[in-house]
Amino acid sequence: MSAAVRRILAITGGVGGAKLALGLARVLEPEQLTFLVNTGDDFEHLGLTICPDIDTLLYTLSGQANPDTGWGRREESWHCLDTLAELGGDTWFKLGDRDLATHLLRTEALRSGASLTDVTAMLARGLGIPQRVLPMSDDRIATVIRTPAGELAFQQYFVRERCAPEVIGFRFEGREQARMPAGLSELLADTELDGIVICPSNPFVSVDPILAVPGLREALTGAAAPVVAVSPIIAGSAVKGPTAKMMTELGVPRDAVAVARHYGTLLDGFVLDNSDASRLADVEALGLQAVATPTLMVTLQDKMNLALATLDFIASISKSAIH
Ligand code: GDP
Repeated sequence: MSAAVRRILAITGGVGGAKLALGLARVLEPEQLTFLVNTGDDFEHLGLTICPDIDTLLYTLSGQANPDTGWGRREESWHCLDTLAELGGDTWFKLGDRDLATHLLRTEALRSGASLTDVTAMLARGLGIPQRVLPMSDDRIATVIRTPAGELAFQQYFVRERCAPEVIGFRFEGREQARMPAGLSELLADTELDGIVICPSNPFVSVDPILAVPGLREALTGAAAPVVAVSPIIAGSAVKGPTAKMMTELGVPRDAVAVARHYGTLLDGFVLDNSDASRLADVEALGLQAVATPTLMVTLQDKMNLALATLDFIASISKSAIH
């Protein structure tokens, strides 16, 4: 357990971020930790509201994540999907039988007027997750991918087109009307909040949608607690997913320093992988504190070690010393 910090807010997308989220959950007491999760990937499919990043986090924290696919639930069966195929239905988005229960419950609760925050809390309770899990907003914000051939809805780009189209930019539809989830402002003003961690998630399509919620970026910057990001890029490559491909297409250098620069003034500190230790000075030149540590998370111990290293780093940062 880390005694050096009291409360922590962890900002995360799906798979990459959820790994560090699990590490944090294993080294902090449940009441010390709140998660703020991307919902820009959410979409309606077959009449159901699907929240891929929230579900990946919930399944990961509850030990229900499917280790083979990286999405969905373990010990899954596919009778519904197979039957859908027989009937000529849409099967490009894979929904397992057990996973479907999550979407059914969520969709019903949302239709009867519950907020996404309340529905997420209900699902977390049902899965035995004691930490607070907040969606980035109760209002709908949809990440739209801009390509030379036109715009694509996020899941069309990510799942249907397997991230093949060239990316030239992003749009977060609905952001103007969106509000922060209830309870976030209070947490950010909490004098016991000792740190905000941006987990290693895709900066463009997992973290930027969260920062697009009006007032949220300012609220993070204005919080007394330091904001620290863990690099999702290790030695110029993404561990998984299209982060590095997007950087190339967007004309950004494909390295961890570019991620730190992307977040810019939001950050107080940046965690680099050991293999990028030669770039510590480049991150510090951006006005940030920096540390290098092993960041590749394969085992649970890797996740806990990175969580502890990140918390130690946070404890060493005195925000007043930087600004
Ligand atoms: P996301 O969290 O929803 O954005 O999930 P993805 O699976 O698309 O991963 C996003 C980012 O997480 C990618 O840039 C990956 O390189 C990064 N990532 C995944 N696993 C790890 C890991 O073990 N360590 C680090 N440092 N980054 C990782």
